[in-house]
Amino acid sequence: MFNLILFGPPGSGKGTQSEKIIEKYGLKHLSTGDILRSEIARQTPLGMEAKKLMDKGQLVPDEVVIGMISSSIEANTQARGFLFDGFPRTVAQAEALDKLLKLKGTQINAMISLLVTEEELMKRLLNRGLTSGRSDDSNEEVIKNRIAEYKSKTAVVADYYKKFDKFFEVKGEGSIDEIFNAICKEIEKEMDA
Ligand code: AMP
Repeated sequence: MFNLILFGPPGSGKGTQSEKIIEKYGLKHLSTGDILRSEIARQTPLGMEAKKLMDKGQLVPDEVVIGMISSSIEANTQARGFLFDGFPRTVAQAEALDKLLKLKGTQINAMISLLVTEEELMKRLLNRGLTSGRSDDSNEEVIKNRIAEYKSKTAVVADYYKKFDKFFEVKGEGSIDEIFNAICKEIEKEMDA
């Protein structure tokens, strides 16, 4: 299996690049944000609880997202590998993910982080809010909270993978294809390693 984490702040392009990566490498896309939004659309109790936090730009509790990822891994045992997008967002989630993958006899091969300036992030998210229908993209206060959550809880997850020499950084500004090519270079280096 080849298991990849696509990392970066909200608005760094993880969703866009994930679509291209899964198509090229045949990985199963696991986005906790997408799973949560589908729970909200189906109006499940989990979705309704999560929505209150998501609308404020706050993270959903670790146990909730870890449970979702655990079920998704179980439901896709035949996958060639996973692309984790928007997960792990805390060190506790990273530790739980290691355990889940270990139980399946596999591990994370690489974390690729998209580097984008804060000014560009704000611009992209406000723009996305005009068309995405995502309530957490249309309000500047909520966007600021999401970036603050990223800085205080998520950015440290990079250090966790740096310790294991699994962290790689790619410039997240430029054309979609330029960024994708830079990501592919890193992926292929790790696949050959
Ligand atoms: P995203 O689509 O990845 O930007 O996620 C949208 C929102 O869902 C985030 O602002 C969080 O409220 C919640 N969320 C998604 N993934 C996670 C995660 N791994 N841990 C905690 N909350 C999450």
